[in-house]
Amino acid sequence: MQNHPRLIVASNRLPMVLTHKPDGSLHFEPGSGGLVTALLPVLRDRGGVWAGWPGLTDDVANLDDLLQQATTRAGYRLRPVQLTDDEHRKFYYGFSNEVIWPLFHDLQSLCHFDPSYWQVYQSVNRKYAELIARETGSDDFIWVHDYHLMNVAVELRRLNVSAKMAFFLHIPFPAMDIFVKLPWRFQLLRALLEFDLIGFQTLRDRRNFVECVRALVKGAKVQGKGQVLGIKIGERTVRVGSFPVSIDFNGFVKRAAAQEVADKASELKALLPNRQLILGLDRLDYTKGIPYRLEAFRNALIRYPQLRERVTLIQVVVPSREDIPQYHDLKTEIERLVGEINGQFTRPGGWVPIHYIFRSLKRSDLLAYYRAAEIALVTPLKDGMNLVAKEYCTCSIEEDCVLVLSEFAGAAAQMQNGALLVNPYDVEGSADAIHRAFSMPKEERRTRMRRLRRAIRHQDIFWWVDSFLRAAIAKDLSAFPLPDDYVPHDESAYSFDLTKNLNL
Ligand code: UDP
Repeated sequence: MQNHPRLIVASNRLPMVLTHKPDGSLHFEPGSGGLVTALLPVLRDRGGVWAGWPGLTDDVANLDDLLQQATTRAGYRLRPVQLTDDEHRKFYYGFSNEVIWPLFHDLQSLCHFDPSYWQVYQSVNRKYAELIARETGSDDFIWVHDYHLMNVAVELRRLNVSAKMAFFLHIPFPAMDIFVKLPWRFQLLRALLEFDLIGFQTLRDRRNFVECVRALVKGAKVQGKGQVLGIKIGERTVRVGSFPVSIDFNGFVKRAAAQEVADKASELKALLPNRQLILGLDRLDYTKGIPYRLEAFRNALIRYPQLRERVTLIQVVVPSREDIPQYHDLKTEIERLVGEINGQFTRPGGWVPIHYIFRSLKRSDLLAYYRAAEIALVTPLKDGMNLVAKEYCTCSIEEDCVLVLSEFAGAAAQMQNGALLVNPYDVEGSADAIHRAFSMPKEERRTRMRRLRRAIRHQDIFWWVDSFLRAAIAKDLSAFPLPDDYVPHDESAYSFDLTKNLNL
């Protein structure tokens, strides 16, 4: 940006992992996610602050010292927002994950619209804003991340902060018919419009947001046509754009090519020989469509008996939010289905159709699974983007694998030309896609995977940060035309052509 203002980042969690040393003492280590990787060089270059919850509600006597030490290594300052148990429960588990998360993923029947959640959400957002206000000068640039912090700009304005404020929503934004169910729909929409720039993952999310604004905010006028639009409200113009988040392509390729990963992948192939490995890898979450996927796999084994003993599904489920009852029930449901399908098809002393893993993986193991699997099933019922889809293709160094991808993952907008797209609710259609992936000739696999990897390489995480920051400062929004691969370029259309799908 022109004078290289400092960057003030806010996210629910600090980008640090709290670890115990062998002597029992605590210390923070920098996180390794894509967002940290991408923002780190910008923060180092311009200086800045990252504000967030440190990951524990207990009082830690020397928290500031610990963060200070980690900060020295990380190259930017970390500022903790401390939350009580009650705040964390109602803000994080309550409003964020029992209201916004299910609603924004079209699962309104799972929402728990408890008014006390909304109260605490507002007060916690105020806490974030107070901390940010103390750290921010008028020339700084504030970048707030995700659905936990949608109320931060409205609180910053109350505190007379004049710095530019931008927001990126990592999850989908729902269609208007769903959004209007939210009891606090006006307040939330108004709060978002206090940001100067709002970024979404896809054009579809942005379109949903714009429709809500048109319907619920009197006098709002939408200007422009490209990747970034303006919404004029009174004297202010708020920018809204689509910026599909991505991964560090080169970093993943390098790590996936390491000898340790190659050896682990070969070991896995040797343990499960003469078959294609199919990978499912998800956080434990009802949005990921794991039960439907297991049913699709069962359906494929029934309708295509030639797949028996020739495929093994490795389903990794990473524990998540188990304190919320629906997540606990989902785990029980997945384990019941895995048991049932294995009971139905296992050959004693031989083939077991599903290998189920319930734990988080070491980085090198994760990469080895990506490399070893000939097919990945990424079939969420709805997903903001889905980075597993991008990581899998990136790690397919030999370009001989197949991605089966849900139409309802944000990633489908960019990956429609290489992946086999499925409607995850359509068990038979997904089973057909599994069979098609299994039988796909080498040359077609290569052509598709090459296309996918090229798209990820061109629009990696560094491109994402850069295009977001440029959209915040550009004088002229026509500098942001729609990318060529968004077909059709019609605001009212779906992110891609549904009639191209397998089953139509
Ligand atoms: N991942 C991880 N540990 C694991 C398995 C996966 O950290 O044991 C990472 C994976 O590499 C990916 C992220 O978790 O970067 C999942 O992101 P995605 O967008 O697919 O889904 P989310 O969990 O954010 O809904």
